[in-house]
Amino acid sequence: MVQQIQQITDAILSDNLDAVGSLPVPESYRGVTVHADEVDMFEGVPTREKDPRKSLHVDEVPTPELGPGEALVAVMASAINYNTVWTSIFEPIPTFKFLQRYGKLSPLAKRHDQPYHVVGSDMSGVVLRTGPGVHKWKPGDEVVAHCLSVELEGPEGHNDTMLDTEQRIWGFETNFGGLAELTLVKANQLMPKPKHLTWEEAASPGLVNSTAYRQLVSANGANMKQGDVVLIWGASGGLGSYATQYALNGGAIPVCVVSSPEKAEICRKMGAELVIDRSEATGEGYKFWKSDTEQDPKEWQRFGKKIRELTGGEDPDIVFEHPGKETFGASVYVARRGGTIVTCAATSGYMHQYDNRYLWMNLKRIIGSHFANYRESWEANRLISKGMIHPTLSKTYRLEETGQAALDVHRNTHQGKVGVLCLAPQEGLGVRDPETREKHLADINRFRGV
Ligand code: NAP
Repeated sequence: MVQQIQQITDAILSDNLDAVGSLPVPESYRGVTVHADEVDMFEGVPTREKDPRKSLHVDEVPTPELGPGEALVAVMASAINYNTVWTSIFEPIPTFKFLQRYGKLSPLAKRHDQPYHVVGSDMSGVVLRTGPGVHKWKPGDEVVAHCLSVELEGPEGHNDTMLDTEQRIWGFETNFGGLAELTLVKANQLMPKPKHLTWEEAASPGLVNSTAYRQLVSANGANMKQGDVVLIWGASGGLGSYATQYALNGGAIPVCVVSSPEKAEICRKMGAELVIDRSEATGEGYKFWKSDTEQDPKEWQRFGKKIRELTGGEDPDIVFEHPGKETFGASVYVARRGGTIVTCAATSGYMHQYDNRYLWMNLKRIIGSHFANYRESWEANRLISKGMIHPTLSKTYRLEETGQAALDVHRNTHQGKVGVLCLAPQEGLGVRDPETREKHLADINRFRGV
């Protein structure tokens, strides 16, 4: 198997892409997994202390059989998303539950129900094989994948595929994800790899870039327009570093919230002028919760005052929410009359509490947003390909070091995105369009620096 994987890698690295389709498909490959018999390993351990290095393994796993409408891809690079952190700490539930449920759908879906879960929801790589019924893609195509897996057998998802009743996130709610040497995707997850980027740069925006696009830009999300004041939590993090770029690109006014002077500097480097350091040590030290059960509206007011100070008296048209419990009350409070709070997550807790009077009396709206449909992901990837949005990759690990990479994200010691090399032996490979890269080099370096 090692030899066959090496042959595939060599063909890709020597630009012999036409050969890839005729090389044998290995019967097994290395992937980052969690194990079903270890889901109780962190019982009694506080969330923050749960260590992904203990639960994430690199195993040799059997190559899944290729089904209709699917593609098997040789993965050159991948990236860490927060969903891999959730999987690795078995919170809020072990992801084996998702695989078991999926497995009941059909004999083909049954392949996903295994005692191991190969994780990862981002990748860049080269198509090795396509299944029956796939015409748009062929072996040798250089691709990235978005992480929306749908069945579309019912009518529900045909206006917006995120509404398919069998909608799943690849590598989180399905098996055979992208943190591996090979991966199994539906062919309608594939998109062209941005030619001016390296493998690891191209792999890193996927999930968060598409999510931020739908959440902020799409009519399915906040439908941001020029001049909107957009409050962005975690503005230098995975989602936030793309939300900040979309706000700046779209003529909006981002107000970036971060937790250190270094992260504030990153936002300024991206082009944002209005930045709030929320930390106690160096910044405003907001304490929105007085106790476990009671919030402090005075702190919401202090936060709102700070935003007005920065914006010249304006409140946010849009609040880009994802921290959840800790910030949600403040987010609802500070949004302007008629404004929108758009949320896609609840990192600090999902039982939110807010004062509903501020919502209804001021005609505010809360919008739930989740990943993105193919169209939205394609648009988000197109903007990367055009050099209008840039990867915010700050660090890259080897596949064997994925546990450490996930720990960085879990402990919030990272910036932007954390990448993982899979078959790519080193960083810096895979650029096919050096001219476009040269044209955008200053920006690529500016954003990679974050
Ligand atoms: P990330 O890279 O860790 O960035 C999140 C940032 O949020 C952190 O860097 C931190 O920035 C800020 N933050 C964390 N806890 C906070 C708190 N209690 N109060 C205020 N700010 C806080 O993670 P990400 O990739 O952006 O993902 C963020 C969340 O969104 C995760 O829960 C993830 O699972 C979810 N997500 C959902 C979807 C979806 O489709 N529904 C897609 C992507 C991600 P500072 O410390 O600088 O403030």
